[in-house]
Amino acid sequence: MSEKTEVVVVGGGYAGVMAANRLTRRTDVAVTLINPRAEFVQRIRLHQLAAGTHDAVTEYGKVLNERVRLVVDSVSRIDAGTRTVTTSQGPVRYDYLVYAVGSASSAQQIPGVREFAHPLATLEDARTLRATLDAAPDATVTVVGGGASGIETAAELAEQGRKVTLICGATLNPYLSPKGRRTIAARLTRLGVTVLEGPQATEVTRHTVRLDDGREIEGQLVVWTAGFGVPDLAARSGLSTDPLGRLLTDETLTSVDDVRIVAAGDSAAPSGRPYRMGCQSAVQLGPQAAETVLSRIAGDQPAPADVGFAGQCISLGRHTGVFQFSHKDDTARNLHLGGRTGSGVKELVCRSTVWQLSYEARKPGVRTWWSKDPNRRQTLATATEPTPVTAP
Ligand SMILES: Cc1cc2nc3c(=O)[nH]c(=O)nc-3n(C[C@H](O)[C@H](O)[C@H](O)COP(=O)(O)OP(=O)(O)OC[C@H]3O[C@@H](n4cnc5c(N)ncnc54)[C@H](O)[C@@H]3O)c2cc1C
Repeated sequence: MSEKTEVVVVGGGYAGVMAANRLTRRTDVAVTLINPRAEFVQRIRLHQLAAGTHDAVTEYGKVLNERVRLVVDSVSRIDAGTRTVTTSQGPVRYDYLVYAVGSASSAQQIPGVREFAHPLATLEDARTLRATLDAAPDATVTVVGGGASGIETAAELAEQGRKVTLICGATLNPYLSPKGRRTIAARLTRLGVTVLEGPQATEVTRHTVRLDDGREIEGQLVVWTAGFGVPDLAARSGLSTDPLGRLLTDETLTSVDDVRIVAAGDSAAPSGRPYRMGCQSAVQLGPQAAETVLSRIAGDQPAPADVGFAGQCISLGRHTGVFQFSHKDDTARNLHLGGRTGSGVKELVCRSTVWQLSYEARKPGVRTWWSKDPNRRQTLATATEPTPVTAP
C-alpha cells in the first residue's frame, strides 16, 4: 500500500497539465494524469491545424513533470463514495481528484449541425476538417460563429485562397472594442471574407446555412465554431453542475458535493459564476486547483481562486493579428495592437502557453501567473469568447 497521497487529474489540457505539475511540489504526493491522447493538444492552434499551418500538438514529455504518471485513457465515471474513477483499464483510486475535462463543441441542437457541419473544438475535429479541405481544394467555406475561433478560422482559410463567408450572429466578436472590431472587419474584407453580421444561423443542410432572416447561404463546407459545451462526466457521476454541465465549486475550486474533488479550466464553475472559457484562465486555474489540494493535504485552509485577464489575441492569417487589451474586469479597452505587431504578440502568446506548462513542469510552484482582484468574476462570466451554449 502506497504511503503517498494519490491525486488523480482528469484531463490533460492547459488546466490539467498545470495542476499536475504544481502537485509535484510535494514529494509525498503521487500524481496520475488521465487523458485520452498520448500527446498534449494546443487547442488554441486548432484553426491552424485545420488550415495546415501547424500540427497543434506537443509531446507530454516537454510539458509534464517526470513524476507525473500519464495514463492514456478516458474516465467514464467518478465514484465519489469509493473515491475511484472508472477507465477502460479498470478503476483508479484517488485521495483527491482534479476535474479538468475542458470543453467541446456544442450547438448540436441546431438542425443539421451534427450531420453536415464540421466542428472545430477537438484535435479530431481539426484533423477531420483538414482532411476534408484537402479532399476539396476548391470548395467554398461557410464559417458559423463570430467569436475569436470563427474569425481566426475564416482568416486562415481565406489567406490560402478559399472563398469564405463568416456568419457572425448579432455582432462580430462582441468582446472587442469598436476600433478593434473595425480593424478585424477591414482585414477580413481585404482577405476576401464575406462577413454577415446580424442574422443567426438556424439550420444547416448539406451545402447551405439557413438564416433567421430567411436567407440561405451557400457553402460547400460548413465549419461550426459557435458555442462550446462541456463533457457531461460530472453530471453523469451525480455531481452538482451549472446548467452547462461545469462542475459547481466554491471559491477555492472545491466541489460543492465533495471536499476531495476540485475543478479547473473550462469545466469549472466557481460559485456558479464561471470565468470566460480560455487557455488564459485555464493556465491560472490549474495551479490554483492544485494549491487547494496541497493546502488540504497540509491541513491548511485553501485560498479563494482568482484569475487575471490581459485581453484577447486574435490571429488574422499568418501575417496579421489583433491584440485587444482589456480592463481588469475583462471588458475591452479602447486600445488594441494590429497588423504584424498584433500577429507577433499572438504567436508569442501561443508559444508562451507551452513555455508556462514546461516551466511549471521543471520548477513547480516557483511562479504564479495570476493577479488578485476579487471583483472580476461577474463580468468574466458574461464575456464572450468562446461562447458557452446550453447543452442539448
Ligand atoms: C480553435 C480554437 C482557438 C482558441 N483560441 C484561444 C485563444 O486564442 N485564447 C484562449 O484563451 N483560448 C482559446 N481557445 C479556448 C481554449 O483552447 C480552451 O478554453 C482551453 O483549451 C481550455 O483548457 P482546459 O484545460 O480547461 O481544457 P482542454 O484544453 O480542452 O483540455 C481538456 C482535456 O481533458 C480531456 N478529457 C475530456 N474528457 C475526459 C475524460 N472523460 N477523461 C479524461 N480526459 C478527458 C480532453 O480530451 C482534453 O485533453 C481556443 C479554442 C479553439 C477550439
